[in-house]
Amino acid sequence: MRPIDWRIIATDGETRAGILKTRRSVVETPVFMPVGTQGTVKGVRFEWLEDELDARIILGNTYHLFLRPGHEVIRELGGLHRFSTWNRALLTDSGGFQVFSLTDLRKLTEEGVEFRSHIDGSRRFLSPEVSMDIQAALGSEIVMVFDDCPPGDAGFEKTLKSLEMTARWARRSKDKFNELQRDGADSGHVNLGFGIDDFGLEENPKSEIPDPTRISGKQALFGIVQGAGHLELRRHSLELTQEIGFDGYAIGGLSVGEEKSVMYEVLEYLAPRMPHDAPRYLMGVGTPEDLIEGVRRGVDMFDCVMPTRNGRTGGAFTSRGKINIRNARYALDPDPLDEDCPCSVCRRYSRAYLRHLYQSGEMLAATLISHHNLAFYLNLMKRIRTAIVDGEFEAFRTGFLAQLDNE
Ligand SMILES: [Zn+2]
Repeated sequence: MRPIDWRIIATDGETRAGILKTRRSVVETPVFMPVGTQGTVKGVRFEWLEDELDARIILGNTYHLFLRPGHEVIRELGGLHRFSTWNRALLTDSGGFQVFSLTDLRKLTEEGVEFRSHIDGSRRFLSPEVSMDIQAALGSEIVMVFDDCPPGDAGFEKTLKSLEMTARWARRSKDKFNELQRDGADSGHVNLGFGIDDFGLEENPKSEIPDPTRISGKQALFGIVQGAGHLELRRHSLELTQEIGFDGYAIGGLSVGEEKSVMYEVLEYLAPRMPHDAPRYLMGVGTPEDLIEGVRRGVDMFDCVMPTRNGRTGGAFTSRGKINIRNARYALDPDPLDEDCPCSVCRRYSRAYLRHLYQSGEMLAATLISHHNLAFYLNLMKRIRTAIVDGEFEAFRTGFLAQLDNE
């Protein structure tokens, strides 16, 4: 039995439409996963994520939850699902990316990374083993290996050394992960004697409910392919990662300051070479255009802070492109953020009102714009998926991109 089941239901060119079954929810791919850094998708209640936005999987951040409130606190409270009440699927990152963005606060060795907490300056340590232990305490459905993330412009030698260490860390991650699964350390473990209601997805047709004979109730582990913008190193990293063997494969180290053309080139080269029968996850990317270009090259899963981060600073994604509600031109604008968006924010509130809330420093502005942005991203993925199933992805892409006029 496997911890997740993923299968393709349609393809169009390199694009894939699939169904990912986890122990807690059924996820249609390609999927965008809202980011819940500190155990919350900033400004957006879980009720809205479930009932209106129908997000089936969100992210949690190992680094942040390790520092506060601490994974032992979350373990004590029954894991991140129980603690937060989010009962659908969770993917947790490994903490690698966050630690490596603290370049001057860290010391890197083969064993792991010592760093200073950005909260209180205390000395902390993360390694493959520690990261696996934290992610078991959190009890996510999908665990990520602990990886080294070199800067986007790292040279060939530095990138090679780094990805080889990432491969050794991936092996250590898997060994520790297996040990923790054996020892019952996974807080999110599901005893698969449950009924349909326990998924919170009663509206789903029965055929999409995970078949207890195929899903183990355990956590899944994804490997991460590194190699910056060097195609031969990407290939090398993929080979090393595949040799170890994972439930899914992620592409790390993109959208970290390199040119867009480099990201698309890496995806075009790498994605089709990745295992066909496992989900492919592009980490930390990106804009609506990036999602479309990623799917086009064969990616199935995405996450990014952009919808909520931009939402907090007045940035809204729309089918006509990105707008900023701070702009004076919206002061008297009675229209919704996006006329084509069916979300509850667009059905009710005008740009003029949202601008007023933002200018007045009202916290509701951030909440409403973040909500709309997530609706826009999740709807975009639904439309992409429908286009793949209908064999019309290229026409959809051309039409979507032609409408964009970013502010
Ligand atoms: Zn909307």
